[in-house]
Amino acid sequence: MTAATTPQRCRHHRVLFPAFIRQQLATARASSLRRHLDRCPDCWTAWNVYRWHRARGSALLGDLREFLADDFIPYYDSSHALAAAWDTARPTTPAARAEFFRSSTDYLYNSTIWTASGNRPPYLRQARPILEQLGVHTLIDYGCGIGQDTLRLRSLGYTVTPCDYHSPSTRFLEWRAARSNRPIQAVEPDRLDAATGTDALWIIDTLDHLPHPHRELAQPLSTVTTVITENISIHKAHGAQRFHNRRTADELINFFADHDFSPQRPSPLTSHLTVWLRTPSASDTPTAPR
Ligand SMILES: [Zn+2]
Repeated sequence: MTAATTPQRCRHHRVLFPAFIRQQLATARASSLRRHLDRCPDCWTAWNVYRWHRARGSALLGDLREFLADDFIPYYDSSHALAAAWDTARPTTPAARAEFFRSSTDYLYNSTIWTASGNRPPYLRQARPILEQLGVHTLIDYGCGIGQDTLRLRSLGYTVTPCDYHSPSTRFLEWRAARSNRPIQAVEPDRLDAATGTDALWIIDTLDHLPHPHRELAQPLSTVTTVITENISIHKAHGAQRFHNRRTADELINFFADHDFSPQRPSPLTSHLTVWLRTPSASDTPTAPR
């Protein structure tokens, strides 16, 4: 226990875990809990154990155990391991960044626990009516990671191109897809040309990872008519993960405007998402019949 905290204060924070993991805490209380977790190693450890307990028994965690076999480490604190590995590697060039993610098993654990514990918001559940309404059939899952959305979207009948650095996470995705007799291969971000003609760019919790989104997303944004991101107005910053490039909602709105996309008005049913539609440009206006 650190001097700045008291056991009572810690208990006060830990009772919030069940609501916090389901993203059901009011913003102020969630921020307060995040700040406490960042400062209190004991509560951080309790939070890590809590997440693992919540993930226990899930098919996803069972798959990770089987995939990693003898290398599987129960209760591994991947969040801190990831932050520490980043601080040690300190990659500065795009190539070094890519190499970091290509070799990160911490990231595989982290994405799996985030998803299997129920901590990850129900993005796909909220998006399904929108995808249907917009007539989306084909998607790029950009920054697919372990590909939970890729696999789920495919099982719902969508055609999906998973895109990410080839890494332990994408190998896990490919292993799971092959095991269900529907093999798939993740495409590296600079090889996305093959995905021309895609309806939608599904890019969840990935914008913060892109150092130069104008460069990285130019190709996919030139082909799609719909973009779905996490809700850009929810403040997510916490933890010691310095690989994130935090951008404000206004910065993201300006970025997408440069590519002719504008955000749609959010609704309570899509509270975790921002849906972006291509703004009709002057050249799209049909000319009057002669
Ligand atoms: Zn504490």
